[in-house]
Amino acid sequence: MKRYRVIAKALCDDCNTKSLNNTWFDVRCNNCTWAKWNNVTNLIKFTSDVLDKDHPNWVFFNVFEYIKGENGRRLGSYQKNGKRPITPFEL
Ligand SMILES: [Zn+2]
Repeated sequence: MKRYRVIAKALCDDCNTKSLNNTWFDVRCNNCTWAKWNNVTNLIKFTSDVLDKDHPNWVFFNVFEYIKGENGRRLGSYQKNGKRPITPFEL
């Protein structure tokens, strides 16, 4: 089974409100979070069951090859209000 390492950016409530109002917010805000997962196997389920539920303020995530102890090659990037995964497995 293919496994991925995923890194997602989720905004804090303050930045999320500003983003929704199309006003400026600090992209390096320390209250916003970078969440990481190893061993993601289904990108569609991950997006709907993990990101949308546990990190509703997520804005984008990057998908990497999962290689233990290494960073792995970046395979793709998705956005909440843009390109979402349409297949469980990115090629
Ligand atoms: Zn923030």
